[in-house]
Amino acid sequence: MSGTVLILGGTAEAAALARLLAGGDDGLRIVSSLAGRTATPRLPPGESRVGGFGGEDGLREYLRREAVSAVVDATHPFAGRMGGNAARACATLGLPLLRLDRPAWVAGPSDRWTGVEDWDEAIAHLRRASSRVFLALGRQELAAFAGLDALWFLLRFAEEAPPLPPPAHFTLIADRGPFTPAGERALLRRHAIDTIVCRNSGGTAARAKLEAAAELGLPVIMHHRPPRPGGPCVGSAEEAAAWVRKTFST
Ligand code: NAP
Repeated sequence: MSGTVLILGGTAEAAALARLLAGGDDGLRIVSSLAGRTATPRLPPGESRVGGFGGEDGLREYLRREAVSAVVDATHPFAGRMGGNAARACATLGLPLLRLDRPAWVAGPSDRWTGVEDWDEAIAHLRRASSRVFLALGRQELAAFAGLDALWFLLRFAEEAPPLPPPAHFTLIADRGPFTPAGERALLRRHAIDTIVCRNSGGTAARAKLEAAAELGLPVIMHHRPPRPGGPCVGSAEEAAAWVRKTFST
């Protein structure tokens, strides 16, 4: 078994897959790719590269140059552009492509979630009923909320760099987690949060704030996941590792 596997990463699942595959005695070369959004990324084991490929054409060129024989798209559920580029580039080159997508969160009986398709819908809800909002979103998502001058926002990023443009009233904290329900409950209480806004990213660490919200009876505005290209898809790094081994054993 030999060949090169490209893992499109930036998620905990991608790093877990690299840990499962890299350094094995099966002759596979594992390359993890990160977009380069954070200044100090945690690099997974195996080889890694950082930065965009230059669109679908650039990715196709990279796959040819590096003689990649299979791709695992383990990017974030909301990282739609990379997933689309990977699907088209792999289809053109006839390369096997697997999507590793962590399962979406599902509301339980104590959750008070309102699902939205876009941020305009979320903002309409916020204007009606909120004043102190935990915007549990990445920096690049916040521009839509910048004009909400009557509201105060709690923002939390992995690194301490302000959003651009910033909302009129906000507090910024830098914390990469991991987060626990007890810690999140204390945070929500400390800042007197009345609404949480987030996207249905799935995963366990980011789920802690939802458990805390349910315990405190707080409403959550939840952005649904965007659609992804079809094709084989698994929900865990272990299943993705099994797919890679099967792909290279035939
Ligand atoms: P995106 O909209 O799908 O990607 C935008 C562009 O960034 C892509 O067209 C590509 O540039 C580059 N890119 C994205 N992922 C890459 C990767 N793994 N390796 C190399 N280049 C990559 O994604 P995004 O929402 O900006 O997210 C960027 C990265 O952060 C993703 O890798 C994702 O897994 C991670 N992440 C995203 C979120 C989120 O909320 N969106 C949350 C956590 C982690 P080129 O077209 O030049 O190739």
